[in-house]
Amino acid sequence: MFQMCAASGCGRPTASKFSNYCAAHKSALRRHGHPDQKGVTKADLKPFREIVLEWIARNASNPAWGKLEARWKAVQAHAAGVVAAYEHGRASIAWDVLAAREALRLAALVEPREVLVTVAAMVVMQDTHPRRFRSDEAFRAQVVRRVRGLTEASATAYTDAATGKTRTTYSDMTPRATAVLGAWLIEAMGIAGAQIARKEREAREENASAVQELHADLDELA
Ligand SMILES: [Zn+2]
Repeated sequence: MFQMCAASGCGRPTASKFSNYCAAHKSALRRHGHPDQKGVTKADLKPFREIVLEWIARNASNPAWGKLEARWKAVQAHAAGVVAAYEHGRASIAWDVLAAREALRLAALVEPREVLVTVAAMVVMQDTHPRRFRSDEAFRAQVVRRVRGLTEASATAYTDAATGKTRTTYSDMTPRATAVLGAWLIEAMGIAGAQIARKEREAREENASAVQELHADLDELA
């Protein structure tokens, strides 16, 4: 029996009788966290990275950046614990282990500052264009996508900090593992983006009211 895709405005048949969505929307849900979510590209994020880099440069001696990087290090320690527990045969949640392995791979390949800038930039982007993200899960998936994108130019082989062994394989992240890793990243470093977004908004509002005052002054011209 023919069933229609549940995504709004989509008239295509569902991918299977077990799916609510057509093949395209099913794939977007899996890859991007929501059937209607469009992936955030490196180019999309660039202006927001620049905003964050400016704030960091202007406040280079502020201890906040180091503290935020320490929070990312704490995530890595947690991830190493999750992987170690799994490897010692303790009952583990599969997607937590997958998220933990990916966190360790990222930690081995990417400078903490780069991870911080990317997560903060994503939060500034969400604050500026809230409708660009279809759900919290879609936002988390995009954060993970952009942070994983930082390793594109790197070899996939890396040294596992916990065991000293070289690992070369990593499987694709599942949606659940992506949600876990995204939540870790945002919890550790999202606060920087939230604060920068707030200050940017305040500056825009101040600017707008200055222009309004100017208009009022010009209205008074006799
Ligand atoms: Zn569809």
